Amino acid sequence: MNHSVADCDVAIIGGGPAGSSMAGYLAKAGLKCVVFESENMPREHVGESLVPSSTRILRDLGFLAKMEASGFPRKFGAAWTAASGSPAFNQQFHSMDFDGLHAASGADIRFEEREKDTGQKYTWHVDRGRFDLMMLQHANELGAEVYQGVRVNGVDFDADPGFASVKYSICKKQMSTSCRIAVDASGRHTLVGSQMKWKVKDPLFNQYAIHTWFEGYDRTAMAYQPGMNNYIFIHFLPISNTWVWQIPISESVTSVGVVTQKENFEAKREDREQFFWNAIKSRPEFYEALRKGRQMRPFKHEGDYSYAMKQIVGDRLMMVGDAARFVDPIFSTGVSIALTCSQFGHKDILKAFETGNFKRDAFENYETKLKRGVRNWYNFIRVYYRLNVLFTAFISDPRYRLQVIQLLQGDVYEEQEPPVLTKMRSIVSSVERTPNHLWHNLLGNLTANVFAETNEAMA
Ligand SMILES: Cc1cc2nc3c(=O)[nH]c(=O)nc-3n(C[C@H](O)[C@H](O)[C@H](O)COP(=O)(O)OP(=O)(O)OC[C@H]3O[C@@H](n4cnc5c(N)ncnc54)[C@H](O)[C@@H]3O)c2cc1C
Repeated sequence: MNHSVADCDVAIIGGGPAGSSMAGYLAKAGLKCVVFESENMPREHVGESLVPSSTRILRDLGFLAKMEASGFPRKFGAAWTAASGSPAFNQQFHSMDFDGLHAASGADIRFEEREKDTGQKYTWHVDRGRFDLMMLQHANELGAEVYQGVRVNGVDFDADPGFASVKYSICKKQMSTSCRIAVDASGRHTLVGSQMKWKVKDPLFNQYAIHTWFEGYDRTAMAYQPGMNNYIFIHFLPISNTWVWQIPISESVTSVGVVTQKENFEAKREDREQFFWNAIKSRPEFYEALRKGRQMRPFKHEGDYSYAMKQIVGDRLMMVGDAARFVDPIFSTGVSIALTCSQFGHKDILKAFETGNFKRDAFENYETKLKRGVRNWYNFIRVYYRLNVLFTAFISDPRYRLQVIQLLQGDVYEEQEPPVLTKMRSIVSSVERTPNHLWHNLLGNLTANVFAETNEAMA
C-alpha cells in the first residue's frame, strides 16, 4: 500500500452517540470523515436516559430543534426510592444525623434548580433506536459519509507510515480505507482496545443487568408527588447492591431494568426472567403495578461491563465513548460521556490537522480532560455504593445540594476533584475508620475501602 493521500481524514468506527457526534463536529469543521456502523439503524440499545450536560453538545451540533420535534419525553428530574416506597422512605434512618447531615434513604432532584448552567430545565429520555439513527443522519447531513451494515475487523497502524488503515469486509470481499486518524467509537465492542490488549477489567464493579420495555405500566404508582411522572426513578431493592431503573420511553412505554452484582445472579441459579421478577417482587408496590403492564420485548441482558483501557489515545488513534471506558450506569452518564468525548476530542483532532502532528501527544488535552472527568464519576459512584445514605443526605442538605446536582448533571470535567466529592470521601473514610459510628453498619460491601488504590487504569 502506498498512499500519498489518505482516502479520508478521519475514519470513525461505530455510529452510536460517540461516533455520530464526533462525525458531526468534524464534518462541520470541514474534515472528510467516514463512519462505519456494523448494524443497520434503528437498532435497540441500552442507555435511554440522558443527563443535562448533553444539551450543550446537542446545541453545538445544531441538533436541539430535532430533539424538540422528536416527541421524546422530557426529563425534568430524578428520584431514588428505597424499600418502603413511601414518601417517608425508610424510618430507621431518621434519627441518624451526623455532621449536620440528615440521613435519608431516598431523594429527588429537579434540573431547574441548576438550570443556568445548561440553559434548559430538562433533558430527555430516548428510544435509542430512534435517537441513534437521528444522530447518525444528522452527522450525514453535516457532511460525514456514513456506511451502515459495515463491520470493521481491525485497524492497521503500521502498514503505511503516516496513515491508519481500517479493515472491513463487504460481501466476503476484504476492503480497507486509509485515514490520517482512526477514531474508535465501537462502544463496548472495544474494537481497538481489544486488538491492542489494552482492556483492563474493573476490579470493583462486576454488574449484570436485565431489562425490557413495558406498555401500560402506570408510572404514577411510584411517583410520590405530582410532576414526577417523567422522572427517571432508581428504586433500591433490599438485595445488596441491586437496583432497578424506571425510564419513560413514551407516554405509555417504560423501560425497566434490574442491575445487580453478577454473583447475586449466579448464586440464585434462576433463569434470567425469573430473577428479574423475583427481584422486582422485593418491592411489592412496584411489582403489583408492573405486572399490570404488558411486556413489549424479550428480556435483554448485559454483563461484565465495567472496564478501563491502559491508554485511550495513540499515534493516529483516539478512542471515544464506551470504546474508551465504561463505568457503572447508576447516574445515567454513558451517553453524556460519549458526547463529551467528541466535544473535547474533536478539538485535538482539528489541531492535529493544523499542525500535522498525528502522534499520541497531539491528543493529550483530550486524554487529560476525559480521565479527570471519568475519575470524578468513578469516585462519586464508589462513594455512592459504599455509603448510599451519604448520597441522599448530601442531596437533602442545602449546603451541598447544588454541588451534587452539578455532578448528576454531568459537569465533572473542569475540576481535579469537586469539593463536594472531597467532603464525601472524607466522611466515608471517617465512617470506615470508626466502628461505632452511627453509619458504620450502613457501609456497603461493594467497595472494600473508598481510598483503596485501584488499578492505575481505573483511576
Ligand atoms: C445496563 C446499562 C444501563 C445504561 N443506562 C444508561 C442510561 O440510562 N443513560 C446513559 O446515558 N447511558 C446508559 N448506559 C450507557 C450507554 O449505553 C453507553 O454509554 C452509550 O451507548 C455509549 O455510546 P457509544 O457511542 O460509545 O457506544 P454505543 O452506543 O454502543 O455505539 C457503538 C456503535 O458501534 C457499533 N460497532 C461496534 N463494533 C463495530 C465494528 N467492529 N464495526 C463497526 N461498528 C461497530 C455498534 O453497532 C454501535 O452502534 C447504560 C449501559 C448499560 C450497560
